[in-house]
Amino acid sequence: MTVLNVEGLSKSYGALQALDDISLHVERGEVLALLGPTGAGKTSTLMSIAGLTDQQAGRIEIAGQEVSRSDPRLRDVAIVFEGFNLLPTLNAYDNIAMPLRSPAYRVDDGVVDERVRKAAGDLKIDHLLERHVDQLSGGERQRVAIARALVRDPQIYLLDEPLSALDLKLRESLRAELGNLQREKSATILYATHDYHGAAAIADRIALIEGGRILQIGTLDELIAHPNHVSVGKLIGSPAMALFEGTVSGSQLAIDGYDFTIACPSGFSPGRIRIGWWPEDIEISKQKLDGYQQAEIYATDFRGVDRTLQIRFGGHGLRKVVPLDFDLVEGDQCWFALPEKQAFHFDYETGETIKNDTGQA
Ligand code: ADP
Ligand code: MG
Repeated sequence: MTVLNVEGLSKSYGALQALDDISLHVERGEVLALLGPTGAGKTSTLMSIAGLTDQQAGRIEIAGQEVSRSDPRLRDVAIVFEGFNLLPTLNAYDNIAMPLRSPAYRVDDGVVDERVRKAAGDLKIDHLLERHVDQLSGGERQRVAIARALVRDPQIYLLDEPLSALDLKLRESLRAELGNLQREKSATILYATHDYHGAAAIADRIALIEGGRILQIGTLDELIAHPNHVSVGKLIGSPAMALFEGTVSGSQLAIDGYDFTIACPSGFSPGRIRIGWWPEDIEISKQKLDGYQQAEIYATDFRGVDRTLQIRFGGHGLRKVVPLDFDLVEGDQCWFALPEKQAFHFDYETGETIKNDTGQA
């Protein structure tokens, strides 16, 4: 069952079009990540859905009811704001209790107490309830803000960068807790973030947003198998897609700064093109192999369970994840190949994926 359905949502701030024809839906019990860089329009989308900012065009339905023009208090959403938005003059308890004391959802004091203590317990802040929020650390405040959303069982939770202000360790542990809570409650969540790891870890599907437009929506596997735009390659993956520019002539494609040409699928028009590979598809070798190009490892980043090599060749850099025991280090020579069959081709001007006849994209 569809809990949230958004169609053709548009919004401008003066001359700036912040949202341009946004459409998406979230099913009951689903987590949809809204993933995009700063300024993409994530907060504007969530605020429009919550009714906290007006939209110029579009239709918003929550649980089958059109709410496009409804009062925010009647939309039955719970929102965790970017930057928390807690009331500093109140203690943690009263901040968490706030939604239950609003006229629209008023409940008995006994129920308030039970729900506040349950949410605080879930987020491990029971011992902080009496403290004023300005005496809490950033991580503690974030937990209070999430607990404030959890005291209700709304149709949908709108979470705006709920973990971005936290350091890496805290972010990962709170993300795991949030995932458990979501499963326990079968909560429906629209989760705005600029963090690919966060989106990949928690979301059932990902909606990619850039410049106020939805680029593509799908499961992570679908986005990886069929990116529809060069920006998808930049927003997804860790490291992201390795992207190059090149020139098509006939059946050959010459990548700028790359010594030899690779075969190009038939039917491509001659001229400039963008081409990319997921780092997983780039082949790397310690020895020279047929068709491989020489390059230099100029940096390695340890990432706990694996390591990223940064490889430099012909003015390009690319990054590739390898196992910890892969015995290439900084300063080493290596050889790599960009396999033709795994290449994604993008229109040079529009960035859109060029469909080809090899079964890709
Ligand atoms: P995100 O949350 O993805 O970072 P926002 O929705 O906050 O993006 O912003 C989208 C665009 O709208 C940005 O270009 C931002 O500068 C602009 N914007 C956001 N809020 C306002 C506002 N109140 N007035 C003017 N411009 C705004
Ligand atoms: Mg934002």
